[in-house]
Amino acid sequence: MGEKYQHIETAAIHGASDTRYAGSLVPPIFQTSTFVFDTAEQGEKRFSGQEDGYIYSRLGNPTVRVLEEKIALLEGGEAGLAFGSGMAAVSAVLLSLTKSGDHILCSKGVYGCTFGLLELLKEKYGISHNFCDMGSEEELRQAIRPETACIFIETPINPTMQLIDLEMAATVAKEYQIPAVVDNTFSTPYLQQPLQKGCDIVLHSATKYIGGHGDVVAGLVVGKKAYIQNLAATVQKDVGGILSPFDAWLLARGLKTLPVRMDRHSENAEKIVKKLTAHPRVKRVYFPGDTGHPQFEIAKKQMKAGGGLISFELKGTKEDAQAMLNRLKLIRIAVSLGDAETLIQHPATMTHSAVPADMRQEMGISDGLIRLSVGLEAWQDIWEDLEQALNG
Ligand SMILES: *Cc1c(COP(=O)(O)O)cnc(C)c1O
Repeated sequence: MGEKYQHIETAAIHGASDTRYAGSLVPPIFQTSTFVFDTAEQGEKRFSGQEDGYIYSRLGNPTVRVLEEKIALLEGGEAGLAFGSGMAAVSAVLLSLTKSGDHILCSKGVYGCTFGLLELLKEKYGISHNFCDMGSEEELRQAIRPETACIFIETPINPTMQLIDLEMAATVAKEYQIPAVVDNTFSTPYLQQPLQKGCDIVLHSATKYIGGHGDVVAGLVVGKKAYIQNLAATVQKDVGGILSPFDAWLLARGLKTLPVRMDRHSENAEKIVKKLTAHPRVKRVYFPGDTGHPQFEIAKKQMKAGGGLISFELKGTKEDAQAMLNRLKLIRIAVSLGDAETLIQHPATMTHSAVPADMRQEMGISDGLIRLSVGLEAWQDIWEDLEQALNG
């Protein structure tokens, strides 16, 4: 955790905190669009970069900076940059690393809108992509083309919880001098730190576990200082997907409790997985923290715990799955994840409804598949609700 902190729990609370403003324990919200220069010459120096300092909130804001420093510290990276949504972060990173004619090598299965963005880049700008299991060094090497500009990885993959060995992927990426980008939304830096495994860039939908309370939409990117400075001064400045100071403040606040929340999410999920696995109406359970997960060895190598997301396949039709969801009383039917509330959704008709049916099949997203984001309630209450809905 940088030089100052030995433990992530302490870094999450004290890291990047700044008490210079009237001794305020919590950094204030700088709800301002612009910053006043003392003199015209100072303005010139700020613009030319001769003097550090703020200019205009699209180019940087002190409250947003606190969050950026905190996430960089927790991921063990040099610098961070905040965005107005997870997709603003994904699109900024992909735009910064590619030009027309390039190719993106992507894990098989990514967030639905990342899939949509890849299609858009191909159709409008001639940036191609393909999907790869990334199950071994050999498989990865064979998928890399001369024009491959970056490797984009999601692990665990949404919603089937397949894993990719980050150390293996980083080794191959280095060999070809291609940056490896990891969407770390599902695991957060508390459970998995891709930069420590040799990957180059980490990004997040901070909407999920980092905020943790379902009240913000935001994105974060962490990487080398030179890369982040360039990203801030080019794509972010000119495309403009910045985060508001208030939302940055909420996220810096959320990060303080990230370690305790992730422990509880993971513990609750482990309990629910055991119960689901034993239930006669459940065909299969997908959870990276389960010793029965086919890639449990990879999970052990790179994840501290399994996290709070479980997918499971119900026996029966789409209508059976929908009826089960409709019987729930405590658990809310909603997309998104990582909130205090347990949330449930049906990928085939919700998050992955835009993915063509044959591809859904290939990705293992059947009509009976259900995704559960296990919240922070007592696990017994979560299970009681699930059980009555399953039995009903
Ligand atoms: C939600 C999500 C995104 C997109 O983030 P937004 O904040 O909704 O824009 C990207 N990747 C993953 C894995 C996600 O779960």
